[in-house]
Amino acid sequence: MKITDVEAIYLRLPQVKEQCDSGQDALIVKVHTDAGITGIGEVDSNPMAVKGAIEGPFSHTTASGLRHLVIGEDPFETEKIWHKMYRGNIYGGRRGAGLHAMSGIDIALWDIKGKALGLPIWKLLGGGFHQQIRPYASSLWGPTPDATRELAKRYVDKGFTAVKFGWDPMGQDEKTDIALVREARKGLGDGPDLLVDAGLVWDAKTAIQRARAFQEHNIFWLEEPLLPDDYDGYRKLSEAVDVRIAAGEEESNRLSFIELMDRGRIDIVQVDLTRVGGFTEAMKIASLAVDRGLPVVNHGFTTYINVAAALHFLNSIPNSFILEFVAEEETTLRDEITKQRIVAKDGMLDIPQEPGLGIELNEEAVAKYRVG
Ligand SMILES: [Mg+2]
Repeated sequence: MKITDVEAIYLRLPQVKEQCDSGQDALIVKVHTDAGITGIGEVDSNPMAVKGAIEGPFSHTTASGLRHLVIGEDPFETEKIWHKMYRGNIYGGRRGAGLHAMSGIDIALWDIKGKALGLPIWKLLGGGFHQQIRPYASSLWGPTPDATRELAKRYVDKGFTAVKFGWDPMGQDEKTDIALVREARKGLGDGPDLLVDAGLVWDAKTAIQRARAFQEHNIFWLEEPLLPDDYDGYRKLSEAVDVRIAAGEEESNRLSFIELMDRGRIDIVQVDLTRVGGFTEAMKIASLAVDRGLPVVNHGFTTYINVAAALHFLNSIPNSFILEFVAEEETTLRDEITKQRIVAKDGMLDIPQEPGLGIELNEEAVAKYRVG
């Protein structure tokens, strides 16, 4: 089997709000083969930068469009192709958008392998750790602490046993920060786990103060309180408080995760399959985390392609226990662009059993939202 073409397809809602919701647009990758099998992947990044990294021309031997590098390759040779892409675009692809772009192609290649063999990706990765996995409802904070409390109640009513709130308006002032967490806990009651995603808002000392204040409301983890490059700040914070510190969604490739784990001393490693370099690299990151005694979770706030990829990944590693599941109530691209809608039953998600990712695009919706 040979790869014949790669497409980077940009989808966007007609109206995009200025808020931290990466479900308002999507960059979908299709990898076509001469066997008639097409694999799909996704990248959560700056979409047009990724489109350029994939569809751009050969410039020279360390700055090539990824499409150019993979056409003619055998899609089963995922390790070889990963290194060919990394080496062939090393000027722009060691971290960030170039590496993110590789993720979409790598996910699509694993989808092709699964479809060709009639097996789910987790089986190809040697997995099988779970029958089901517990999702947490992932949400933005309400506009006020009171609104957050009402939102929390609704997620519990929907059957979620863990809920995460994140980003705005956290970080404005101490009183609001603490009120948001207190009211979220009130809405959830004592039972469900409460996860807090600060959204890159503090310095280390402020984060230490907040983590101590939030402890009274029994939070399960505190996510991304600091800017991602503040690895020494992460270390100070992790060493000062008992609350688990989670981070990783800003990182791409295993070397940046080593920095976060060994220098930053985080407790929970968050891997976004659509940014870190796909399954091929995510498995290595998970292995590095296992060796350090750290649990791995997914990051994902985009489409069911990302959710499905996370289910396959988390079912293939020994240190997974929960899955990020977007619970935003407004209908977006997510509910239209794939034929499947992944839903929790009794607070749990089933592991996919279909070949490949087990997700197909709804081509009508893709055509409707396609831009450019
Ligand atoms: Mg986050």
